Amino acid sequence: MMDCLFCKIVRQEIPARVLKENKHALAFRDINPQAPTHVLVIPKKHVASLEEATPSDAALLGEVLFLASEVARDEKITSGYRLVLNTGSGAGQSVFHIHVHVLGGRPLSWPPG
Ligand code: AMP
Repeated sequence: MMDCLFCKIVRQEIPARVLKENKHALAFRDINPQAPTHVLVIPKKHVASLEEATPSDAALLGEVLFLASEVARDEKITSGYRLVLNTGSGAGQSVFHIHVHVLGGRPLSWPPG
């Protein structure tokens, strides 16, 4: 996807504070952090949202979650962190390339807003 913001980050066409990556997923700091740790983990392949994912993306989504857990460990927030995957504009999704927010380093209330 040529005009997708996160695809451009994958292709290193725009800068990002990358923390970690594996063959299929990339983790970088959110540009507008909502917590002391706020990292986005994305599949390198363009999938617009969880609604667009197919059974063939199941392993890819597992890679994204596993990288998120590694980020949490590296950031030393394993005493409590939250993964958020906004799906659809009604849930606040603003970038249509699947991304998991990794949030931690402060108390997180429940339910989320
Ligand atoms: P969402 O609202 O769930 O789609 O989340 C999109 C996230 O992408 C927001 O938290 C933004 O702050 C973040 N974001 C937008 N542009 C960039 C960028 N260039 N680098 C890092 N994070 C970004």
